[in-house]
Amino acid sequence: MAKDEPEVNGRVAWDASDHAHDGEAPHAQPPIETDGVRVTAPARVAAGLKSVLKAAEFTLKEPGLVRGIAALTHLNQFDGIDCPGCAWPDPDQDRSFNEYCENGVKAIAEEATARRCTPEFFRSWSVSDLSRQSDYWLGHQGRLTHPMVLRAGSDHYEPISWDDAFATIAGELNAQSTPDQAIFYTSGRTSNEAAFLYQLFVRQFGTNNLPDCSNLCHESSGLALKEVIGVGKGTVTLQDFDLADTILIIGQNPGTNHPRMLATLQRAARRGVTIISVNPLAEVGLTRFKHPKDVLHLFGRGTKIAKHFVPVRLSGDLAFFKGLCKEILEEESRHPEQIINRSFIDEKTRGFEDFRTAVAAVTWNEIVEQSGIPRPQIREIAEVVMRSKSMIACWAMGLTQQRQAVATIQEIVNLMLLGGHIGRPGAGVCPVRGHSNVQGDRTMGIWERMPESFLDRLRDVFGFEPPRKHGWDVVDSVKAMQRGEARVFFAMGGNFLSATPDTEFTAEALRRCSLTVHVSTKLNRAHVVTGKQALILPCLGRTDRDEQTNRNQFVSVENSMGIVHTSRGNLEPPSDQLLSEPAIVARLAMATLGNRTKVNWLHLVEDYDRIRDLIARVVPGCEEMNGRVRRNGGFYLPNAARDGDYKTKTGRATFVVSAVEPIPLEPGQFLLTTLRSHDQYNTTIYGLDDRYRGVFHGRRVVLMNPNDIKEHAWKAGELLDITSHFRNDGKQELRVAPRFVVVPYEIPRRCVATYFPEANVLVPIGSVALRSNTPTSKAVVVSFARSRLAAPL
Ligand code: SF4
Repeated sequence: MAKDEPEVNGRVAWDASDHAHDGEAPHAQPPIETDGVRVTAPARVAAGLKSVLKAAEFTLKEPGLVRGIAALTHLNQFDGIDCPGCAWPDPDQDRSFNEYCENGVKAIAEEATARRCTPEFFRSWSVSDLSRQSDYWLGHQGRLTHPMVLRAGSDHYEPISWDDAFATIAGELNAQSTPDQAIFYTSGRTSNEAAFLYQLFVRQFGTNNLPDCSNLCHESSGLALKEVIGVGKGTVTLQDFDLADTILIIGQNPGTNHPRMLATLQRAARRGVTIISVNPLAEVGLTRFKHPKDVLHLFGRGTKIAKHFVPVRLSGDLAFFKGLCKEILEEESRHPEQIINRSFIDEKTRGFEDFRTAVAAVTWNEIVEQSGIPRPQIREIAEVVMRSKSMIACWAMGLTQQRQAVATIQEIVNLMLLGGHIGRPGAGVCPVRGHSNVQGDRTMGIWERMPESFLDRLRDVFGFEPPRKHGWDVVDSVKAMQRGEARVFFAMGGNFLSATPDTEFTAEALRRCSLTVHVSTKLNRAHVVTGKQALILPCLGRTDRDEQTNRNQFVSVENSMGIVHTSRGNLEPPSDQLLSEPAIVARLAMATLGNRTKVNWLHLVEDYDRIRDLIARVVPGCEEMNGRVRRNGGFYLPNAARDGDYKTKTGRATFVVSAVEPIPLEPGQFLLTTLRSHDQYNTTIYGLDDRYRGVFHGRRVVLMNPNDIKEHAWKAGELLDITSHFRNDGKQELRVAPRFVVVPYEIPRRCVATYFPEANVLVPIGSVALRSNTPTSKAVVVSFARSRLAAPL
């Protein structure tokens, strides 16, 4: 290390002075310019004036002022449009006229855009030509206006009537030798009403093949929490953040992925709450934040959010949380009955003694080496935790996509249980969901493994016997398509190809299908890598007015905190050819099931209240849904763990013992994590900048510790090819992604980060989180070589 480079916890920090401007840091080194990508120092403050200006820029560029304002004035209001971005909740009561963030505006601008992707567009563009365009370009061709079909052997989509489209799908579905040869995927945008009808249709058709985007994100959270506290969701409400004294933010970058959470954290920080960020990268949103609505502070330095930053190694969280538990239990042995919440542990939990013994057996060397965090810092954080009376632990995909994600989440619960931090005000667990209704879709029955009790209620209400055999999740669906066991792929929203790991493998799997169908609002990569035949079914978006038999309808969604509330679009739909998602499901069900169904599908979609009446009879907690969802802010689903009642097998919260299984790295190898840029939401690429990390005009970058760059004699700005290494059944699998610009960044040694979906090609389909089967996009073993390959188009 050069002697003028400051060392921060074993990493080299940017030399950023204190008088940074809004959202910018002075450059610690000359900017990098390679392959069209420009890199400067990362921003030092999140949001602020720049965020307001960016939001205005996106609004003017896409929907224009009139449509943009019409949508934004209703965004996240009572009886307004629910933001199609993340699942962070809106305030229960008082809401301001601008209850949204920069990325919420981008999401609305994308959907409300004035651009149109018409049949003429598809006449001029062949599928081969489209497949050579970037995800960003595809997404910016505007709203789809007509149902389109790609016939076998053709290279151009052409218009098709809705009746013919449904007849084509029904013909293909009914031609399969078993219903299990069809796969029905759901993205987190789908409303509760559409999701409920969809799972009903799929189960009446005869399969549980209902993979969803939860398989790719919070599957690990649901599984881990259900086992140990009896509910697979978070246990806190927004009000709890106003009562907590300590907040852990683990493997999460709220500044980009759940931006309004920063307003909640700012309020907490100003109240003196200790916020601790546990993450390999120091993300700017957790460093300093300027609330864009706080006009008086727009030109100041912003509020410091996280008091402590723990730069844990990739996959080092389990060891770190074991370290915290060990520190606390050692202190308890020195001061019996003074450190942990003994009465809570005795009355409400099980497994404590085994856990204590197991933690005592783990060595400090192991903990420090695997976590990458020195013992004094573990002690410092443990002291905060020991003092805390009300602690909240939040996390996101930085945890859930690790190989030991389930064990790690259960270790966090162990820590919470030591202090009795679940089931009381101001405390609890908070897995923060990434897509606006991903949690609600699960509640409505979108899961390949719904419990028997749910299937029993479906049977009783609808008078048919639902299939009981578990279906395929996302990873197993892709493998089944590859093997030729699944032949029809139907996606309710989403961009399956860009969301899934192992891009080449998944593309090949889709190509083997006889039919692929996507219900979509805009063009994406999944439309250009298709089965022998393909259909695009254009649907209404959240912002669009939804008229059924002349009555304006609303749908409902569930946010990260289990609140079910309404969403009602108010914009003129982009075409009179669009159908709503519930209407698409209803007509598909009628075409496919014919007289095999007794459900009056058309009657249901004439008035969504009728769907909600059925949901109320099947889904626990949704009783009297039509009345309760109409109240301002909607209603909370029951959450026994929040009330201190643990519906586990033993009726108590459970301590779990697990061992750290390190991921071995050979010389020259690194662990890679994928992440999103600030101009990105899931697979939607709004723009080519990531201004918080100082990356502009491009996305093929790899963030790397400066000492690693130096050790390998690479240079900032140099182009490297990345190879991932995965051992499968004793065989070494290699995958290559070419031409990534090296960017020196504050990240632990031998850890690197790149954006997805570009890096998905490196994530092996066989590399999954233990037990949850979630692809391990946060733990890919890679090596680098000077680039000799051309970048993909
Ligand atoms: S915080 Fe999430 S839900 Fe709220 S406006 Fe931003 S993107 Fe939308």
